[in-house]
Amino acid sequence: MERTLIAVKSDGVQRGLIGEIIKRFEHRGFKLIGLKMVKPTEDLAKHHYIDLKDKPFYAGLCKFTSAGPFVAMCWEGQNIVKMGRDMMGETNPADSKPGTIRGDLCVQVGRNIIHGSDSLETAKKEVALWFKPEELIEWKSCAEVYTYE
Ligand code: UDP
Ligand code: MG
Repeated sequence: MERTLIAVKSDGVQRGLIGEIIKRFEHRGFKLIGLKMVKPTEDLAKHHYIDLKDKPFYAGLCKFTSAGPFVAMCWEGQNIVKMGRDMMGETNPADSKPGTIRGDLCVQVGRNIIHGSDSLETAKKEVALWFKPEELIEWKSCAEVYTYE
């Protein structure tokens, strides 16, 4: 099983979309193993987006992110890193297909409401950045045998 970091960014929180985003991952059959609302420090936001440090939008992105609230979640499931990215749609909502989260729920790249880890390696780093090991809950889902054969 893979784990990934999915987060509702502050624009998604302000727009009342926390439940909608959780619903899509729950209904798909994935398992929520960590969940918290945070107001990230600017340092944490900078660390989270460190790969983008040379981009012109980096400073604004980190400022916006640290204004919070940010709903960080760790989801678990088979192939969830790629499937989660597919569920999100493209970085720019304008290029995202209807049926995807960004394709259904937002308009502009700077207000694209959701974060999702982009690779298994990134997912490991991001889950460790946002969650202490004891904040991740291992539980057995009774739906598992109806989700996986
Ligand atoms: N972003 C932006 N302008 C851009 C590209 C990205 O404001 O031209 C923001 C946007 O909120 C995006 C975040 O930076 O979600 C991280 O960018 P990344 O390329 O990692 O996209 P993502 O992984 O979120 O699809
Ligand atoms: Mg990214």
